[in-house]
Amino acid sequence: MKRNEGTAKPRNFTEFPLAKASYSLSVHDPRDLPRPGAPEIAFAGRSNAGKSSAINTLAGRRRLAFVSKTPGRTQLINFFSLGENAFLVDLPGYGYAGVPGEVRSHWKELVGRYISERTSLAAVVVVMDSRHPLTELDITLLEWLREAGRRAHVLLTKSDKLSKQAQQATLARVRRDLGELYPGATAQLFSSLKREGISEAASVLSHLAAGKNKAPAKGE
Ligand code: GDP
Repeated sequence: MKRNEGTAKPRNFTEFPLAKASYSLSVHDPRDLPRPGAPEIAFAGRSNAGKSSAINTLAGRRRLAFVSKTPGRTQLINFFSLGENAFLVDLPGYGYAGVPGEVRSHWKELVGRYISERTSLAAVVVVMDSRHPLTELDITLLEWLREAGRRAHVLLTKSDKLSKQAQQATLARVRRDLGELYPGATAQLFSSLKREGISEAASVLSHLAAGKNKAPAKGE
């Protein structure tokens, strides 16, 4: 085990921005969503993109997000309390191969409604594998976010799998594409394995957590 992994005591928000996260509840049916309260920062991403690893890395824990590790059939929204002031919301992964159509349509209903209707949703972190960013479903998600006027930040994960040069080229390309898909959305490189991009993500998350508890006006 690497030093600091799992057992490290978080020293401050910058080091482990989700340090206070504790599991709260899971929702399968949009009608069961808890009453909107503190601002929510949601994490979304294609299955296997590295979302759970990113959440665990940002929380300074090894298995915080393990509850969401279901093999594509149980589509749950998992809520984690971040103290009294915010919630981390782990949205179900998408893009599993071989998943029945009804599961895909449940994902669209559950995540689509959460994004368009949830008044307490402050921002969405979209997790993408830096080797295959902006898949069709990533683009669908970004379109929903744009339509709902949600703040969005893209984590390009597993950046350790790319050379430094490829990392920069990917980041530049994704930022350029975001400029067309959803101007205002931001992007950064991230590696849970090499622990890179943590302070950049921490600063964005801290900004987002301090944001409003309702959707910003379109174009804001
Ligand atoms: P999720 O399905 O999006 O929650 O993805 P996971 O966090 O479970 O990660 C999927 C796979 O990618 C696992 O085998 C992880 O070990 C691996 N992985 C996640 N993050 C990284 C990373 O930063 N670098 C590398 N090389 N592998 C990673």
